[in-house]
Order: sequence, then structure tokens, then C-alpha cells
Amino acid sequence: MGARDLPDDFARAAALVDALFVEFMRPPANITVSQWADKHRMLSGKASSEPGPWRTARTPYLRQIMDDLSARSTVQEVIVMFAAQLGKSETGNNWLGYIIDNEPGPMMVVQPTTDMAKRFSRQRIVPMLEETPILRRKVRENRSRDDANTTLMKDFAGGVLVVSGANSAASLRSMPVRYLFLDEIDAYPLDVDGEGDPVALAEKRTSTFARRKVLKVSTPTIKDFSRIESAYDTSTAARFHVACPHCDEPQALEWGTAQPHGLRWDKDDEGAPRLDTVRYVCRANGCEILEHQKPAMLATGQWIASKESTRPGKLTGYHLNALYAPLGWVSWADLVQQFTEAAHAAKQGDISKLKTFTNTVLAETWEEQGDKIATHELARRAEDYELTTVPWGGLLITAGVDTQGDRLEAYAWATGRQNERWLVDHKIFYGDPSVPEDQPASPWAALTEWRRTSFTHASGATLPLSACAVDSGGHHTQQVYHYARRHQGEHVLAIKGSSIANKPVIGKPSDIEVNYKGQRIKRGARVWPIGTDTAKSIIYSELRVLQMGAGYRHFSRHTPSYVYDQLTAERLVTRYHKGRARLEWLKPAGRRNEALDCTVYSLACEYYLGVHKYASNHWEKIEARLVQRDLLDLAKNPLPLDNKPTTIVPVAAEKYPIPETKPVPVQHELPRAARPSKTAPRPRVAGWIKKW
Ligand SMILES: [Zn+2]
Repeated sequence: MGARDLPDDFARAAALVDALFVEFMRPPANITVSQWADKHRMLSGKASSEPGPWRTARTPYLRQIMDDLSARSTVQEVIVMFAAQLGKSETGNNWLGYIIDNEPGPMMVVQPTTDMAKRFSRQRIVPMLEETPILRRKVRENRSRDDANTTLMKDFAGGVLVVSGANSAASLRSMPVRYLFLDEIDAYPLDVDGEGDPVALAEKRTSTFARRKVLKVSTPTIKDFSRIESAYDTSTAARFHVACPHCDEPQALEWGTAQPHGLRWDKDDEGAPRLDTVRYVCRANGCEILEHQKPAMLATGQWIASKESTRPGKLTGYHLNALYAPLGWVSWADLVQQFTEAAHAAKQGDISKLKTFTNTVLAETWEEQGDKIATHELARRAEDYELTTVPWGGLLITAGVDTQGDRLEAYAWATGRQNERWLVDHKIFYGDPSVPEDQPASPWAALTEWRRTSFTHASGATLPLSACAVDSGGHHTQQVYHYARRHQGEHVLAIKGSSIANKPVIGKPSDIEVNYKGQRIKRGARVWPIGTDTAKSIIYSELRVLQMGAGYRHFSRHTPSYVYDQLTAERLVTRYHKGRARLEWLKPAGRRNEALDCTVYSLACEYYLGVHKYASNHWEKIEARLVQRDLLDLAKNPLPLDNKPTTIVPVAAEKYPIPETKPVPVQHELPRAARPSKTAPRPRVAGWIKKW
């Protein structure tokens, strides 16, 4: 009975024992991956533009990378951040052939999606196995399995090869592996099936093996979100140095924008590049290098590490741009042409080509310019008002509450006419949110007290919280339902964010039929769906409003600085899903964003109350109520003089120097209800009113 007749789990366990036995009992092969490839590897006409025997001399920069992957090397992880079409995936394929032939063990190749995994298997792996004679003999097609398994799983003597999609957690978890080849990791989803980062998930599979090896390969994508760049930054970050054919000075080739060295070309009368004039200007002595001199330069080139890696001797990393492409592949003139077209499109407002050029030619990350707000821009507009007080224009208050494992975080925003808003309070209630409200040390009790403690309007009137939304999607879902149900009369909403594009800021609520103990109840809490992406787009467009007035968001100088960091934590970026571009909000790893989330929830409360649809007479009524209340109180308690509206003074100016544009003084429009009218009692303190 062969191993393949056993149930899968037994077969895998048996294969694992075999693999561990092989790992410890077999001496590592003496041959390197590049030597193996030069000796055995055949490039298929189906997959390669240059079919025939592999020659490492054609792409000398791949030699050291392949040799790090060789059995005798101590390196365990290799990071390859390359421009497109420089042979980086072939590095992985040669390694795969080497493993099958010399160092058999369980191996996994991961592609961004399962569909891409199937295509990769059919178009790259199968032709290599068929056309490289030594491999053809060693790989048994497992014909007893169904078609998908045949495509995604190959048995060979002493090991097995599994090809997985990074969008399938199940396939990433399938078995322990000694060798892991993660291809195009910047195209992997951020999270796979709710189980987290697919790279981490796949890497966990290698922990059984002491002599494991991991290869991570990609062209980079977006700054701060690029997996390959963050991995490369922990590595040796090596650059390929080639000697100038004139002065012999070794140097890394660079595009060289705004630098004396790099690619240079002349332009014709119309400003178009004269492609026959493209040359490389030497960094050391300004010598002019022509492209036909490149093969000789590459042949003697050397990788030079720019730093120590975080795991010396175990982790290496390599960066290469398209200037190094072998002759006959993409030429310097092609690159200049591509750049010219991209720069032209960017001038017309289409930056997509420049982004592609940066990623796929320069092998550098692209920094999204679009929806990013500088933290210091917000911080320096801080104004001179106290928290828990509401400046003149603010007429009602809504709050958003985020639930964390050990605390509740709350933000309150005051809103007035034309969506002008003021951040009027931020509180953190520490304590375990699983402790019910009526028990000691419950953060819920503190939240209730805060909600009910009214804010003081600049007029002196008190202003209660109109609505409060609490996130039920994070920690302590049941406690949130319970709290919202208990306080629904005070407009406390349990909400749940949805990041699906184009959802309304707040949708129709659904009933929760069970209580926090899991029992069915008649009148349960309701949970309100929130269109998180829609709300964030609104908030970010408002944060970019620089003129006080409509749509402006004000901040007190007492706002902690981390609030600005959190509010600006996310960016709207273009991501590609199955080849289609999609805008998504992304938060760089390690940054917190509770302030932004709570602001989203507070905005959802406004939509719940219908504030965005308030007509001017509605605002007048609210204002009249505030002012009349104030005027009645005023007779007894005249307001101190310093309580009048103040001119806005940016207080962070010394920290964030302000250029020529001066802050616009706030325009205090006389509230209509404050004008003496037939119905309103005539103000007795006329002198104070005049100051408005
Ligand atoms: Zn030179």
C-alpha cells in the first residue's frame, strides 16, 4: 500500500516524518542553485522569450541570490525587491528544481490568488518539469487526485510541492513546509478569510524545520503598505554595484532624478527625448557610459550590503531596478520613453503611469499623494477654547465610542450650520468593558456619567449630548448591545462598521434577538450598520477644508497630539482586485486610529438624527432655545467678560511654522434668534449683546 492510498492526514504525517528524517540524516548538497541551474535547467519555449539552457551569466545579479538558497548557505530568508521582468521569479523556479533534484522536502509556492496559483503551475512549473530532463524523471504526476490537486500539488521522491493562493487560508494552512517561496507578496490580500496576514500564516508552516528557507519576492507597491519594502528594510538591503568602464569606480545604477549622476538624454526642439542620445552619467567622475557597455559591467558586478540585517547571517535582501536589465530585454531608451509618457500623463492629472513606472521600473514604493492629510497641518490649527465647552457656532453634540479590551474611548463633536464642527471632548474610560454597568469599576458607568454631564455652550447655556454611537464590531459585542438597549431612550446606538464601498453613512437597523447571556428576548437591542468608507471620505474631505466656516472642523489647543496622528492615520489608496482598481482606506501597520473611528461614529449619529438635512429654521429653533435660556440666566449670573467670542489664535505655530498664509479670523455671524424680536424677551444686558 503506497502512501497515496492513505487518508490525506496520514499521508501528510508520513511525508513529514520522512522529510524530518531526510533533513537531519542527509548531508546538504555540495552544488549551489546557480550551478544546478547552469547544469540542468532548460527554459521552456512556452514560458520564456529565450528558450534553451539556463545561463546564470545572462543575469549575473541572480547568482548570489540563488546561492543564498543553496543547501550549504546559512541564510534562511531571502528578500528580493526587483523591478518587473528581471528574472526574479525564475530564481524561485531554479530553486524549486534544485530542491526536487538535490534537497527534497515539502515545499510551498504561494501566488496572490488561487487562480494565479493554477496559472503559475500550468505555465511555469509544468513546462519546467517537462522540459528539464532530470526533473521529468523525479516528479510523479499524482493521477489519482482530481484535476485541481494535480495542478496545485506535485509529488516527488522525498517531498511534495504545493502551490497555494494567498487568498485561501485553508490552502496556506495545508501542511508543514521546509521551503516556502512567496511570489509577488505585495499583491497578497491584507487579511485572508479573517485569519490575518497570509504571509504570517504561510510562514508559520515552516516552524517545524530547523533548516528551513523562505524566499520573498515582489515588485514594490504603495509606501507603508508594501510588504516587500518592510521586509527589505530589515534585511542587508544590498545593491548591485558595477564598475564604471572608464574610471573603474564601483557604483549602484540609479535613475538619478535631481542628481548629477543617472540616465541622461537630449531633447529635440519640441521637447521630445532623442532616444539615440540616452547614456548613463557615472556617479564618481561624470564619465558617460553607453548601454552596450552594460554586459561587461554586469559580469563583474557585486552585491554590497548597505547595512547589517536584523538576523545577521540568516536574512539577506536585494534591490534591483530595470536599468540593470540584460541587453535585448528592456533598454535604457525604452525606459526613457516610458518615463516621458508617464511624466506627460502626470502633468495632465493622470498619475497612474508614473506610479507604475516607480514600482515596476525603479522598484521603489509609490507614496500616495491624494487622500493623505499631514498631521501637523491639523495640529497647527488648534484654537483657544476649553474642552467640554462648545464655541459659538456649535449647536448640538454627538459622540462616538470605541470599545477596546481594557477601555472605552469617546470623542464628542459639536455641530452647527453648514457642517461646521468642533471637537469638544475626548475621554478614555479605563476598565474592563465586560464588567456590567451596575458593578464597581465598570467603564460603562463612567461613560454614562460623561454622557449625562452636559457641555457648556459659549453662551453659558448647557448643551446635552444628542446621541451617542458605540462600536459593537470590536471587543465586547454583547456588552455593547446590552448598554445600547438599556440606554436607547437617550439615543445610544449600537453600531457595526462595514467597509463595503458606497454604503450609506448609517443604514437600516437590524434587531438583535438575544441578550448578552445568549438568551432570546422580546425587545432586543438594534444594531445600526455604518458605511465606514463613506463616512471616512466625508471626514477626510472636511479635514482638508482650510477656511473656517462651512465644512470646517475645529480643534481645541487642549487636544492631545495623538488625536491628530490618529485622525490622519488612514489613506485612501488604489488597490487592485482581480485586475480591477478599487479605492480602499488603509491604515499603516502599527498606527492607531480610534480618533478617526469615533469621529465616524459621531458622524453616524448626526445622520441618525438627520442633522445633515436640517433646514435653517431648525437651526434657528435650537439656537433660540440656547440663547433664551441663556438670557434668562443672564440676569442672575452675568457672564464674565472673558467669556466672549475670541479671535482664533493658532497655538502650535512655534512648533509648526506657518508660511505666508495667515489664519482666517473666525466669522461670528450674529445668531438670528439673538436679535431682539417680538417673541424673545428683550435682553436686559444690552451692552453685552452688542459685543456679538
Ligand atoms: Zn566613471
